[in-house]
Amino acid sequence: MREATPEERRRFYAEEWNKREIPDFILHTLSLREFGFDLDGTGPSNRYNQFMTVEQLAEFLRNRAPYSAFSSVALYEHPSMRKGWLKSELALDIDAKDLPLRSCGCPQGKVCERCIDEARRVTIQFAETLRSDLGLRNVFTVYSGRGFHIRATDDSIMTLEQTERAQIVEYITGSVIPSDVTMALGYSKVFRERVARTFKALSEQRLLGARGVRRTLVKKLMAEKEQVVAAIREGKLGKLHDFGGMGPKTFRQLLEFLARLNSGFTDGKVTIDTKRILRLPSSLHSGVSMKCVLVRDIEHFTPDEAIPKFVREREG
Ligand SMILES: [Zn+2]
Repeated sequence: MREATPEERRRFYAEEWNKREIPDFILHTLSLREFGFDLDGTGPSNRYNQFMTVEQLAEFLRNRAPYSAFSSVALYEHPSMRKGWLKSELALDIDAKDLPLRSCGCPQGKVCERCIDEARRVTIQFAETLRSDLGLRNVFTVYSGRGFHIRATDDSIMTLEQTERAQIVEYITGSVIPSDVTMALGYSKVFRERVARTFKALSEQRLLGARGVRRTLVKKLMAEKEQVVAAIREGKLGKLHDFGGMGPKTFRQLLEFLARLNSGFTDGKVTIDTKRILRLPSSLHSGVSMKCVLVRDIEHFTPDEAIPKFVREREG
């Protein structure tokens, strides 16, 4: 995964980039979006661009061969001034390099096939919750080059304020311990699923870092990991007390530790920010020489689908 050279960028936009790879949900609202570019790899400082047609955008991309291309999740009356905000997609950013738990042991900032696949599975979980629990119908997933974006464009969600978006992130990720009412009923399903997933992926070493959870208890929980995960999944989260005779305070601290880890599976700031720009599907992620693409079938997606031609040729 090495960086694309300026010549490779030019070739990509001259020969390979295709406007048909821009998703319809962007194409149909193109002139209402702000476009941003990183022209030379120093950051997306070229902002406030508006394109009335996709041909204008194509011309810009061919002429400038940017290092990175982005468009806003927001629609504006005046995108070139970022004024007259109309509405925004609900977006989630699941970056493989930032996952709080990775089984591959990649160093910070690096990604491999394995952690990208772990990000893919998190993306499936989050998208499913948006569809099933929030009833959204227009939920798209995008491979960004190093992870995934979820972008929901249902009208019901596009007009939400920041505080409501923050609550949605908390709900989807299981990053806030639910209220007493749902606790008595064994907690909400989504919270249990997220806690179970996180607990399953925890190493003993990592759990030793939980405040207020003693070493002997950590050992017991890890020794009976499968039963613990099963109990959480079955709605017997409260039954965790039975494992190693945990007191209520310790139980609370353990849950807080898991909820905090849960919050790290997506960057909440991205979801809350209704003026954020996201990498443009169809464009080149020059840092890793990968295409950013709309994912049609996330269950079977592999990053192979996003390898540009110049990389295949480079590697023979
Ligand atoms: Zn990795």
